[in-house]
Amino acid sequence: MIRLRLLGCNGGVGGDCRTTCYALDETILIDAGTGISSLSLEQMARIDHIVLTHSHFDHIACLPLIADSVTALRTTPIKVWALPAILKILEQHIFNDLVWPDFTKIPDEINPFIKLCPLPEGRPLEIDGYSITPLPANHGIPAIGYHVQKNNVALAFSGDTTDCPAFWDALKEDKALAAVIVECSYSRSMHEMAILSMHMDVDMVINRLAALPATVAGIVVHRKPGLEDEIETELRAGLAGCDLRLPVSGDEYSFSRD
Ligand SMILES: [Zn+2]
Ligand SMILES: [Zn+2]
Repeated sequence: MIRLRLLGCNGGVGGDCRTTCYALDETILIDAGTGISSLSLEQMARIDHIVLTHSHFDHIACLPLIADSVTALRTTPIKVWALPAILKILEQHIFNDLVWPDFTKIPDEINPFIKLCPLPEGRPLEIDGYSITPLPANHGIPAIGYHVQKNNVALAFSGDTTDCPAFWDALKEDKALAAVIVECSYSRSMHEMAILSMHMDVDMVINRLAALPATVAGIVVHRKPGLEDEIETELRAGLAGCDLRLPVSGDEYSFSRD
């Protein structure tokens, strides 16, 4: 069984909106947006692995803060997994002793508070019972999605991306797939903005989710603040009969297969 908590699944902040951060069980996070702040200090201290899709701020905003917050409760580094190009951006622009202390060397380089770990090449990342494999994304900067499998249940996360045929091709014939967590930042009227910012809009999502087997849930995330209702109305009209879910931050799902 996979327990997925959407600690943050909004495309921005304001009110109850929190940005991208998904918990797999108790020890793994996918992305480190402001959703992290909904965890208690004790829950945060149990996070051993953070797996990043890309370096945009809404996906890493709380990475510097969790590193600093749990120092008194942990004796081992939090491992931050990503493509080498994404880790380099973090080194240069976040943990640079200007924006934030370099917690990859504090208190010392042997046992720092966080450790930046490149994803293994050519094989899945195997952590805490999960097999995590990068999937293609198309977002204009180094960015990936993830295929996450535990026993015989799999989930696919699009990350931030505009329509990316290679992502959907990779999911074909995946008998273990229970859900696709796909971004839909913009409504139909904001198609041009979706193209410009390399995000998905309603029609791109309808086109892709309609082609999925009926057994696969479509979980739509990253709706931009203020567009939530418009996006929901348009998606529901276009995807009648699909297992379509439109979560708010804090929602939780469990997935299992017999
Ligand atoms: Zn992004
Ligand atoms: Zn984003």
